[in-house]
Amino acid sequence: MFDRNDDIERTHAFGDLAFGQIKGRKLAAVPRNYEIWYTYASGYHTELSDAVNTMLSEHGAIDQDQLDAIYDHYLSPNRLTEKIDVVGNRVMDEIEDVMRMIDSAAGQATAYGHDLAGASAKLAAAASTDGVRTVIETLVRSTREIEANNKALEQRLKASHSEIKQLQDNLDAVRTESLTDPLTSLGNRKFYDQAIAKAVALAQKSETPLALLVSDIDNFKKFNDTFGHLTGDQVLRLVALSVKQNVKGHDLACRYGGEEFAIILPDTPLRAAVTVAEHIRRAVMTKELIKRSTSENLGRITVSLGVAMFRPGDTAATLYERADQCLYAAKRNGRNRVVCETDAEADRGRAKVA
Ligand code: GH3
Ligand code: MG
Ligand code: MG
Repeated sequence: MFDRNDDIERTHAFGDLAFGQIKGRKLAAVPRNYEIWYTYASGYHTELSDAVNTMLSEHGAIDQDQLDAIYDHYLSPNRLTEKIDVVGNRVMDEIEDVMRMIDSAAGQATAYGHDLAGASAKLAAAASTDGVRTVIETLVRSTREIEANNKALEQRLKASHSEIKQLQDNLDAVRTESLTDPLTSLGNRKFYDQAIAKAVALAQKSETPLALLVSDIDNFKKFNDTFGHLTGDQVLRLVALSVKQNVKGHDLACRYGGEEFAIILPDTPLRAAVTVAEHIRRAVMTKELIKRSTSENLGRITVSLGVAMFRPGDTAATLYERADQCLYAAKRNGRNRVVCETDAEADRGRAKVA
């Protein structure tokens, strides 16, 4: 469900806005700047837009160095691998430090062992009380030294533990970023593909019910044409919010593509899945859309949803296909509705193929 001409028009609108920013701010019209301002114009990347807006509100302008930093942080195609490399290098440094420290502690323990062996020989040979005292004093000194070294090693290991914990958190953040859709903050397509594969495998193994909901905004092309794509994008965020607010626990909400969402409901029987779908449908329908900048009332939008249940032997693709057929049935039967596989509408009006 994707209109190519419409999509091209949208890119032109973003491109014009981007070029306007470059010219207006007297910046070099190089691809890197164009990409930043195009992304900003599209509003797809909330963090980038926030970063640009913060710079503008704090300094009233934005210079090339600041733009370069924004590019490196948010857009550079290598940024995720770079971030992973940084974490990887820090882990290696940390391990090397700790290994060095352990080597040195092991050396000291060996030396201490020799001291002990030497002391025992000296004690046996000691002829006077003074001789014994000297041997014991030497032993006490080397025992204190090894104690201090052990304490230092323990502290270093503790510091290393918290450093590694922080590196783990950094890696988690990079991973989450790579699986999140920037416009809606829902899971992206890559996240969906991974999650549905896991959910299907689990349903197959555990014989628990698995439901898949797919939703598509009704007549969204018309909405975009009437109010513009930037406003359309804000509506996409609002629909995503309605989805988020109506799922919980192990449910996984994803942006499947342009204005299509997929919601994975593990361990959920058909009736419960249809209820979730109905809640989403009603939540979207009841929201009155007001354009923030102009207070213009944009009316309401609706979504259609298809619901399919996992069947033994299903793959992620066959399950999606059935949910998508239900979605098409919902569209055929008037939109703003939920259709599941057992509904009469699921087949009504469908072209029969031999
Ligand atoms: P239907 O009720 O049959 O779904 O009608 P529709 O107009 O919504 O048709 P379709 O689902 O094919 O619409 C796709 C349109 O959704 C094309 C484009 O205008 C819009 N769209 C897709 N992705 C985006 C996006 O990321 N942002 C915005 N603003 N619009 C998008
Ligand atoms: Mg569509
Ligand atoms: Mg649509």
